[in-house]
Order: sequence, then C-alpha cells, then structure tokens
Amino acid sequence: MKNILRRYELLLALSYWLLAISLKAQINSDSLVAVYTQKMHRYLDKENKASEVLSFTKDGIEVYVPATDTSRRKFEFKIPWIEINYFKRFLIFYDSKYLCTHWFPGYPPDEIGEEKSLLYSLKNLKIALDPGHIAGDLETAKMEKKWVEMKKNTMKGIKEDIKLIEGELTLETALILKKKLESEGATVMLTREKPNQSAFGIDFKKWKDSLFHKSLDSAYARGDVSFEERNFLLKKANDTEIFRRFFVSEELKERARKINEFHPDLTLVIHYNVDETNQNWNKPTKKDFVMAFVGGGFAADELDKPEARIDFLRLLLTDDIEHSINFSKYIVNSLSKKLGVPTALDSCAIYLRDNCITTGVNGVFCRNLTLTRTVKGTLCYGESLYQDNINECKALSKKEITVDGIRTSKRVEEVADAYFQGIMNYVKEKKK
Ligand SMILES: [Zn+2]
Repeated sequence: MKNILRRYELLLALSYWLLAISLKAQINSDSLVAVYTQKMHRYLDKENKASEVLSFTKDGIEVYVPATDTSRRKFEFKIPWIEINYFKRFLIFYDSKYLCTHWFPGYPPDEIGEEKSLLYSLKNLKIALDPGHIAGDLETAKMEKKWVEMKKNTMKGIKEDIKLIEGELTLETALILKKKLESEGATVMLTREKPNQSAFGIDFKKWKDSLFHKSLDSAYARGDVSFEERNFLLKKANDTEIFRRFFVSEELKERARKINEFHPDLTLVIHYNVDETNQNWNKPTKKDFVMAFVGGGFAADELDKPEARIDFLRLLLTDDIEHSINFSKYIVNSLSKKLGVPTALDSCAIYLRDNCITTGVNGVFCRNLTLTRTVKGTLCYGESLYQDNINECKALSKKEITVDGIRTSKRVEEVADAYFQGIMNYVKEKKK
C-alpha cells in the first residue's frame, strides 16, 4: 500500500513539474502585468492606492500588509505567474476568510476553475435572488432605517400619509420574480422568504435570543469585533444598537454564504433606492433613477483586512466583474425601458461620484459593498427606482393587485417583470 502511495506521489509530482514547464513556456509576464494593471485601475482601485498592497513583478504578484503610521508595508505572500490558474481555482472555491488562515488547503476540484458553460436556457439556470433588508413592519423598518413616510400635506391628491417599507417591496418583487423564473424552468433560491425573516431563517428577536452571543464570540475570535465593542454589545447596547452595529453585517455575511453555497449561474440583489439628499424621506423628490452595482471600487482603507485583499485578488484575476457588468447592462436597460426611469450618471448622487467607479455601461457602477465583494460569480445589485419620488411613492403605496397570493402594487409587479425581461434578454443574447 505504502509503495503504491509513494509511486502515486511521484507520478503526481512529475506531472506537476511537466505542467509547470509547459506553462512557463506559455507565460508572457509582461502582457499579464499590463492586463492586470489596466484592469485594476479600470474597475478596482478607486483611490489609486492598491499598488501599496499589490506589486506586479516579472515573476508574479506580490501582496503586502499595508503600511501604518508606525510601520512600513510588510510582505504577505506571492503568487508566481505560472501558478496563477491554480490560484484562481482556490479563490473561486474557498472562502476568503478561510484562505487567510489555511494557505493552499488542498487541491480544489478540477471543474471549479473551469468557466462554467451556461446552457443559455432558463431550464438549466440556477438563480439566486436576494431581497434587500428584512423589515415586514414599521418597527423593524425603523430599526434598519429603511422606510419612507410621506405626510399627506406634502403631496396633492393624497388622503392619507404614505408609508413604504423597503424590505417589504424587495420581498414582494423577489417572490413574484421567483415564480416567473421557475415557470421558465430556472432553479431559484431566495436568501429570505418571509416578512421580518432574516437570512438565518428567523427574525431579529429570535436571532438575539438564540445566535447573538455565539456569533459575537466568533466575530471577536476572528478579529472582526474589538474587545471594547464586544463588551458594549454584551452589556450596554439596546436592541437597535445591536441590530445596526452587529446584526446587519452578520446577516449580510449569511446571505453571501447562502448564495455561494448554492453556486448560482446568476445572482440578483434587489433593492429600492431613495434620493440621498432628501433627508428623512418625509417629503417627495422629483428625482428618479435606475442603477446597478457590481464588484470593485475599493477605497484605500478597504484593503486593510487580509480577507479583503483576497477578495480583491479574486475580482482582479477572475472574470466576475466583466460578466457582472454585462449581466447588469441587460438588467439596467430593461428596468429603464419598462419602468420609464432614466439611468443614473455618476453626477446624479454623491455616493456614485465618491464611492464608485464608472464601468463604461450606463447606470452600472463598480462599488465595494459586502455582497458585491463576497458573492462569487455573475452578479447584479439592482436599484430599480427612487421610492421617495413623487409618482413612485404614490404608485408603490397602492396595494391594488394580488399576484400568486401576494398582495402588492402594480408598480412592484412591473419591477419584477422588468427584472424578468432583463434576465431573459441576457440569456437569449448569450445563446446567439
Ligand atoms: Zn436597500
């Protein structure tokens, strides 16, 4: 037995050695340096600071822990160009936090690094839908600061105050869209399925009673929460503080984990936007824009954590950004056309100018959000319209129809339909 194993190991070493020689012959490090440098500036490096943690040399990519006030940057690891394709498979297969502590944990399955060929009919597609936020009632919506409340005296033709809950709109949209996609044969996964239910499958109060202490202990052990913050959350924080300062980020990580575990062909994150300059959202705005986000657009301080540098490398070395921009183009075009809402330019909002990189596709921006950074594969983070727009809030507040047992507004159904058409157009185009 021992002999067989020894022989097997020898054979394996020999085949890797031969592979390395043949790869070395094919690698042109100058062109790789040019390609990745250009891509880094184009989509990923918002403040031109990534070169402090990443150096492209003729042998490979060197990664550094960034400098602080008191220390210089420190060498972390290096990926030789000849190993770049192996490395990509690790990035695709393993969680970035896991890779930080288990360097080269074993060889991931062969098929993982291969470009998965879509069969371009919904029948063979796995689609993850993420209805943004959680709230299904005003109390939770206020806790997560995701509601719009218009006083009747601020608008003509309104008899009652208007209250919109973003988490309710996104869930209704996702449930309607799920049915449409399933009727075409797609396999659809929702990160949450009921009002007030989080990605953990329970509401915030149940989470607090059951998972909070355990989650906090492991976040502290991982170094995600400081000693002081942990003590504050355990001893002093009220529910709203626990929700905002800890639960939201833990829940987003759970969404990403569920999506990555599902291995979808496409991921659609569903949100409804507001005009950021319209404080408190209690009077209507005339603005209304559609936009979508994909990964990239890292600010300098967003590369401080080791797992963020791994995510940065994954986005740089794989085609996730390029595929996501192409998918988002179809989604944004369909939303804009079907809903009659213009696509946003980077001058339309401060966060588009300050926190995003334009992609060359109207309405599609690279933005470093938890989900755009950590969800692997092709993703569109959609913002279909402004809830506080004068016409939109009136339309969204009318629960005048029932779709598949879901009481909702015509406008929400139109949004679901526009997403559906966007996905269909993308799939059809890929089929050609
Ligand atoms: Zn949102």
